[in-house]
Amino acid sequence: MNTEKYRVIHDKPINLGKFSTRAPKDFEKDITKKELTPENLEVLKVLQEKLYAENQRGIVIVLQAMDAAGKDGIIKHVLTALNPQGTPVRAFKQPSNEELDHDYLWRINKALPARGEIGIFNRSHYEDVIVTRVHNLLENSNLPEELIEDDVWKKRYRQINDFEKYLYENGFEVLKFFLHVSKEEQRLRLLDRVERPDKHWKFSYSDIEERKYFEKYMKTYESVLKNTSTEYAPWYILPADQKWFSRFLISEILRQKLEKMNPEFPKLSKEEESQLGEARKILKAEE
Ligand code: ATP
Ligand code: MG
Repeated sequence: MNTEKYRVIHDKPINLGKFSTRAPKDFEKDITKKELTPENLEVLKVLQEKLYAENQRGIVIVLQAMDAAGKDGIIKHVLTALNPQGTPVRAFKQPSNEELDHDYLWRINKALPARGEIGIFNRSHYEDVIVTRVHNLLENSNLPEELIEDDVWKKRYRQINDFEKYLYENGFEVLKFFLHVSKEEQRLRLLDRVERPDKHWKFSYSDIEERKYFEKYMKTYESVLKNTSTEYAPWYILPADQKWFSRFLISEILRQKLEKMNPEFPKLSKEEESQLGEARKILKAEE
């Protein structure tokens, strides 16, 4: 499948209002859910094991979205198909006092995956150019006043691009996904959380408050996506009104990425090979 149309091109203006939140017409739910996605997950499992065994490169997956867009579902239904040993998940909530006493990449750095791992970020450093901007949080932060200038967001975009380039140049790929849910679908999902007792735990009144800023969030996301989607750390916009499609699409993009990286089991040295022969003899002798 050609996933290029979901990739954001650096500096090219985006209008999220015009970007579909639904699957293309030629995709059928049943086949996608029961055949295409599981097939991708099987391939991903093998590739992830090789990446882990190779122990050289790593991947950071960034998930960003409005509330109820389905980040948790992607983690639960797609990414947990991988071996949890090599796929640490980290959620970034409102920063703690300790985190606020540092630069905004401090907590991100601490959570980065090791070589061989696929680290999953449920929210990320992008909150510091999204929620922080939407709610003017810098004003009450400990950042020195003279550093809070009009171009502070442009500066942060540059810092983030530099940071991700640094990771790339050190063997870590960053793949970023924006789950694009419509305001109407969000309304239905939040209502579902209100109506269903088994979903009450997911409901938070603050989601209703945040919804008032939906349009402001979209404008902010447009700016972020355009400025921070790069060749080395691209953003993908996943249509997210139908969970079966966003789950399939992320599995497809990840599969293509890993196939391109083409990880291999490490080759044994001559000495290790002869050790295998020796080990075989010893174990057989015990029969
Ligand atoms: P759900 O979709 O289930 O609601 P969630 O990711 O929204 O999941 P919550 O615990 O509801 O999880 O929310 C985490 C909150 O923390 C979000 O509202 C997010 O904007 C906020 N947050 C994350 N990072 C920062 C940050 N750097 N500064 C301020 N707020 C942040
Ligand atoms: Mg929330």
